[in-house]
Amino acid sequence: MAALQDTKPENLPESIRHYINGEWVDSVDGDTFDVLNPVTNEPYIKAASGKKADIEAAVAAAKKAFDEGPWPKMLPRERSRVLHKIADIVESRGDQLAAMESYDSGLPITQALGQARRAAENFRFFADLIVAQIDDAYKVPGRQVNYVNRKPIGVAGLITPWNTPFMLESWKLGPALATGNTVVLKPAEFTPLSASLWPGIFEEAGVPAGVFNLVNGYGEEGYAGDSLVKHPDVPLISFTGESRTGQIIFGNAAPFLKGLSMELGGKSPAVVFDDADLEGAINATIFGVFSLNGERCTAGSRILVQRGIYDEFVERYAAQAKRVKVGLPSDPSTEVGALVHPEHYEKVMSYVEIGKQEARLVAGGGRPEGFETGNYVAPTVFVDVKPDARIFQEEIFGPVVAITPFDTEEEALELANNTKYGLAAYIWTSDLKRAHNFAQNVEAGMVWLNSNNVRDLRTPFGGVKASGLGHEGGYRSIDFYTDQQAVHINLGEVHNPVFGKQEDAAEKMDA
Ligand code: NAD
Repeated sequence: MAALQDTKPENLPESIRHYINGEWVDSVDGDTFDVLNPVTNEPYIKAASGKKADIEAAVAAAKKAFDEGPWPKMLPRERSRVLHKIADIVESRGDQLAAMESYDSGLPITQALGQARRAAENFRFFADLIVAQIDDAYKVPGRQVNYVNRKPIGVAGLITPWNTPFMLESWKLGPALATGNTVVLKPAEFTPLSASLWPGIFEEAGVPAGVFNLVNGYGEEGYAGDSLVKHPDVPLISFTGESRTGQIIFGNAAPFLKGLSMELGGKSPAVVFDDADLEGAINATIFGVFSLNGERCTAGSRILVQRGIYDEFVERYAAQAKRVKVGLPSDPSTEVGALVHPEHYEKVMSYVEIGKQEARLVAGGGRPEGFETGNYVAPTVFVDVKPDARIFQEEIFGPVVAITPFDTEEEALELANNTKYGLAAYIWTSDLKRAHNFAQNVEAGMVWLNSNNVRDLRTPFGGVKASGLGHEGGYRSIDFYTDQQAVHINLGEVHNPVFGKQEDAAEKMDA
């Protein structure tokens, strides 16, 4: 059988380089790495492999642009205009962006298009937010006015994963730039292609040189990601990736007391009670774990189903999982494409083998028919999964779901909370009181009741337990990317600085 091939997007660059101070550059040591196409696993482009020297150059450019350039000093309205232009350009290039993202990551093209639209929306949202934001001020009648001065912090280090790379980059770039910071972005090494489109977009929108810098390469010690975390002139790190990497970054940033935002892994429960709209719950939980190839942090990858509907749910779910259309990423009818990289494919397949020992397989469990090459995994459904099973506890990050029965609400809650993660939870029931009660007690940063994973950009995004630290989203992103300086203005009498006459002030004085 001939090896599969996907359609190469037009206008691919010859290679992927760093972008520092408004210029495309190679690595200082000339090093590069191969980027693979997930359908063939053949290298199709070379990317510059950044290390400490490249990060130093990028941070120096970003620091200069912050200390001397116009960007942090511009009025929010002026920066907002530039951000709206970025959103316009991203929107107008959605097809090109999606084609590159899909070719590089294996995401189905229709879903990559949706992610490109979301990226534009992220810029537009933060462009609006910085002009609409109300500044805090507090009055003590006759005595004091206090106000809060929001200031950009400096060079923000942005480190992103390979799932929905362009959209996740926009999620950090939008608020970091809106608030007047300058940035160094280190995209994931598996999927650097779409990030290489940012420089052209930013130049066209009028972002000054040095404000946005891009260094490609690996994350580990001695490479670009690690060097960015350890750079003393980078006071902020916004990281999205695995929980284990988050722990390493946490440790490496500690000596510098950096500001950290951590969006980490997940093993989110979808809980289906026997009074749920079964059709809606099945459709949403199929989408929740198989969209984005299952490579989704908020995937509902553990489905807990009440005993009374368990058998029917399992039967219908397995039948529907078998109908999910696996195909070439560029095919508009494809629902599940190829996993991002052979290393990740091996990891997911190893969990499929583990699952076969631990539970009952009712769909998938290997390569889909007709996809003998490339990183293809058939939508895979394990049922009767016990809570101590590895496929129940560990993040697989592929099109693999674990289904477990429960009897009571208490048992459902215990099962839902029985992993180290706490990113999202989905609850399906027609009893709203029960739904709210469950939401209150489930250990998850985000909860969806009788709903697909649809997120309003104003809401907080983040996880608890091993799923993250801090929140972004809406004004919380603005909080993360700004210092909030309190300015106190005396409106009354200035006291004689003798302690005896300062009783009133002493009462209100902070240590
Ligand atoms: P990863 O942790 O392997 O890598 C993420 C990024 O960190 C990459 O750019 C990598 O080069 C870099 N990196 C690796 N080691 C580093 C180090 N020591 N110092 C600095 N940077 C380093 O994650 P991944 O495999 O690319 O992404 C998948 C993971 O991301 C999953 O666990 C998924 O759940 C998580 N994720 C979370 C969210 C969220 O919002 N919570 C969103 C998307 C993905």
